[in-house]
Amino acid sequence: MTEKHPLSGYKKDDNGVLWIWSYVGQARVKMGYKVKSLLHYEQSSYQQISIVDTKWYGKMLVLDGTPQISTGEGFIYNEMISHVPIITHSNPKKVAMIGGGDCGPAREAMKYDGIQQIDVVEIDPKVTEICRTWLTSASCYDGETRLNMIHRDGIDWIQEHKGVYDVLIIDRPDPVGPGKKLFQPDFYQYVYNSLKDDGVVVFQSGSPYYNTSTLQGTIKNLKELFPIVRTYLVTIPLFPCGIWSFTIASKKMDPLQADLTKLEHTDTQYIDPEIFRASFVLPKYIKEIVDGK
Ligand code: SAM
Repeated sequence: MTEKHPLSGYKKDDNGVLWIWSYVGQARVKMGYKVKSLLHYEQSSYQQISIVDTKWYGKMLVLDGTPQISTGEGFIYNEMISHVPIITHSNPKKVAMIGGGDCGPAREAMKYDGIQQIDVVEIDPKVTEICRTWLTSASCYDGETRLNMIHRDGIDWIQEHKGVYDVLIIDRPDPVGPGKKLFQPDFYQYVYNSLKDDGVVVFQSGSPYYNTSTLQGTIKNLKELFPIVRTYLVTIPLFPCGIWSFTIASKKMDPLQADLTKLEHTDTQYIDPEIFRASFVLPKYIKEIVDGK
């Protein structure tokens, strides 16, 4: 008999070992994460937030029972969601991230001296506070003058900031809870309006295998607005089935034409010019999803 746990997604097995069971979309598939210790949990006004320690992933941020980022392999997600749009733009000065209060992508953006301002718009101040305490190697720096931490709803923020950003990074969670709004059709229009004429945006667009409709919806909404829309793939061990997609869109800049020289000299663990190029090569079954066949 498994023992019921007060936190959603958590269960103890017959040997008293704690697991997180994360449901994958509507696929009726569950992925289990064995927990070494539950370090912290609390209910914020928006979601249940917990931090656990694990053998394989290190420390993990979990929101409403879904693992979001880990200290072990979070560099993959953080590098691929930030360096690709930054390099595609070539010389961004003003960057904003919607979501991502853990600040992983913001730390990557700080590696570019040309970036003068990074606005991180996170709805839940508790996420920032808890990541700062528990994921110290993966949280926001104090004393980084270019970083503005803004605790607001991202949808309101970008509606109020038109034509200002060179790069927007939409580090959104699954389309549940407060993140649901970041998948609505009007959000894509606000994103378009918030970018400068040569602006570039990237969206976390889900697993192409399990969240096909999320990816299709993202591409459809973006193609109605932007002339350049491209999906790229990343292998993320923390996420179910490992294959994950990001979708980039721009009014002018094409990632396939990007100058990758800067990447050769940037301190990273995953991305380099070859990975940048290769991530845009899609298997046929994903090409069909992307092309709407
Ligand atoms: N990189 C991880 C991933 O994709 O799994 C982390 C993403 S997680 C940090 C997404 C963040 O978006 C959460 O911290 C959540 O609080 C925040 N968020 C959700 N809805 C939001 C909204 N409407 N505006 C701003 N931030 C939001």
